[in-house]
Amino acid sequence: MIGCVTADHGIHLTWSALQRLPSDGMDVDNAVNGRVALVTGGTRGIGRAIAEALAGAGIAVAVNYRSRKDEAAEVVGGIERAGGRAIAVGADVSVSAEVDAMIEQVRGELGEVDILINNAGIALTRDVAEVSEDDFDRTLAANLKSAFLCTQAVLPGMRARGWGRIVNISSAAARIGGAVGVHYNASKAGLEGLTRGYAARVGRDGVTVNAVSPGPIDTEMAAPLKAAGVGEQLPVGRMGTPEEVAAAVLMVVGNGFVTGQTVGVNGGRDFI
Ligand code: NDP
Repeated sequence: MIGCVTADHGIHLTWSALQRLPSDGMDVDNAVNGRVALVTGGTRGIGRAIAEALAGAGIAVAVNYRSRKDEAAEVVGGIERAGGRAIAVGADVSVSAEVDAMIEQVRGELGEVDILINNAGIALTRDVAEVSEDDFDRTLAANLKSAFLCTQAVLPGMRARGWGRIVNISSAAARIGGAVGVHYNASKAGLEGLTRGYAARVGRDGVTVNAVSPGPIDTEMAAPLKAAGVGEQLPVGRMGTPEEVAAAVLMVVGNGFVTGQTVGVNGGRDFI
């Protein structure tokens, strides 16, 4: 049974049933259970919530960390205690040799990466007058080049197997000024260009590429925004939670007909 008729005679499909809908001969496979995911910057905040949500959907998760090994171990421990499968993998994802070694480790310990979440990022708050060349280079490397390197590393395998999901964590700052700075705007707008560029080229190989674009989310990165009361200025009157972003990622990962999109999770931040 793939659904049930409710008292109001509406037909409600279950999540697992939607993943197996009859497809008139088309090759539709949206099942995520048993897949392998890599979440960059998975030690805290949004990345941690995504790693936990994916694990909750039966996906084995590689939790990437750069400096906080203990936090990565804590995330892995929590997933394992809940009955899931996870490993911690160290790498600065803006360095290609480290990315290659990380992918090799995931392949050896969990298997080929089916789902890549490019979440790692930095936000150095700088005024126009003070932003330096080094700030710009560091930001572009951490927020944009990292997604390119990780995508290039896993894409050949995804295309060969005919299935893959890539989700890039962008920002409302890709389209609006925001509070961080022009270097951050550029990195996130570039990430959305990367998203659509890949999506246009790999869809026929069964690989979707999307961006999920959070507004202010209550994490360590956004502590200055919280202190400034940014949440109260939003249409919904509060900041978002990492779990709300993770729910949008899970939705995108479970739907092979969504590609090249930017899904906003921002409490209305992009239209005020
Ligand atoms: P946090 O600062 O809380 O976490 C960022 C994570 O990224 C950390 O795990 C950090 O690890 C990791 N990281 C940063 N650089 C690298 C790197 N070079 N290699 C590997 N890991 C790295 O941020 P959030 O959870 O708030 O943000 C997650 C993503 O969401 C970012 O891309 C951010 O730009 C985006 N975003 C966040 C918003 C918010 O309001 N919080 C709003 C819009 C977008 P480590 O500490 O070890 O460096």
